[in-house]
Amino acid sequence: MIRPYKHINSNFHTVQSFVNHLFLDVIFRAPYIAQAVFDTSLVLPKYKPLIDEVNDEYLLNPITECFTICKTLSKKHLKVLKRGVHQNNKIRLLCNGDLIPLEYSDIDLISEDLSQQIKIFFDKLYDKAVNKAVFYHRYGKIEDYYKNLVGKSRTCRCCGINKVLIKYHSKRSALDHYLPRNHFPFTSINTNNLLPICNTCNSTYKLAENTIFEIIKRNNRIVSKIRKQAFFPFSRINPYPRIDVEITLNKAFSEDIEPNDMNVNLVSAGYEEHVETWNRLFGIKENYLAECCSEEMQVYYEEQYMADMNFGKTHDQYVATLEANRLYDMNFLRIAYLNGINNYA
Ligand SMILES: [Zn+2]
Repeated sequence: MIRPYKHINSNFHTVQSFVNHLFLDVIFRAPYIAQAVFDTSLVLPKYKPLIDEVNDEYLLNPITECFTICKTLSKKHLKVLKRGVHQNNKIRLLCNGDLIPLEYSDIDLISEDLSQQIKIFFDKLYDKAVNKAVFYHRYGKIEDYYKNLVGKSRTCRCCGINKVLIKYHSKRSALDHYLPRNHFPFTSINTNNLLPICNTCNSTYKLAENTIFEIIKRNNRIVSKIRKQAFFPFSRINPYPRIDVEITLNKAFSEDIEPNDMNVNLVSAGYEEHVETWNRLFGIKENYLAECCSEEMQVYYEEQYMADMNFGKTHDQYVATLEANRLYDMNFLRIAYLNGINNYA
């Protein structure tokens, strides 16, 4: 993450309270509730319409299934599940590596059917239910939440080079489930886990890559699973960790320079593991090298940098100007690129 997002005031954050109530007070307490089959009289009256007024297939059916399965579970298993709701939604602490999350693969060991029904509920909630009138009249539209969060800020905060759509577009860019919803239950609607990112970051590179575990496979079989720290997209650390890009050239700069002729290093003191995760998830190094070898970067070098050099500016002066605005217009990458060319000896 080149830059974190700042939280905004929005009712959309509170959809999570509905989820917490439903799972903690009702579904995972099923054995202690006299009623044999779920109906919406079991939830707080204010949440009843959210279930009643959307297609049964979205919420009521998976909730009913979950409730019935949970009736048969042991106290110990229900405790594990409840803890999962709490732990999985502490996105900041999970990114820091401070907590162990509950994954679908863990719920499979308790009940595969339950795991499946929870997955259906959270997918339908995010993909379908929140777009229905009963939800957006109360919590606002997800599109509006996105637009207020992104505002006028065009640059993807994840890679710092590609663009996202902003409040002036009628469409929006992706909200990435930072901890992928395919791995982590209970998080599909948690706003700490919904990150606006560019299409390259979201659909080309990250996909469902597990954010906080590095999975090593051999012959398609998992041979190890290593817990990893990751940047938290809504970090309030002030100042936010600075990430420097360093580029070195293996041969003299020319018009046909290619990524293979360069090395790139991402440096952030004290955040080495976070940077490594960031690169693993979003192919950052590859993206940066491709950008540096683009026609646009070459034209920039020739028309702007070299023009200024010809007018008597020094490399250091030029870079200092970019440094003053390093997160604007991918200046941090231009600095690395220009330094790389300048340092080649
Ligand atoms: Zn991006």
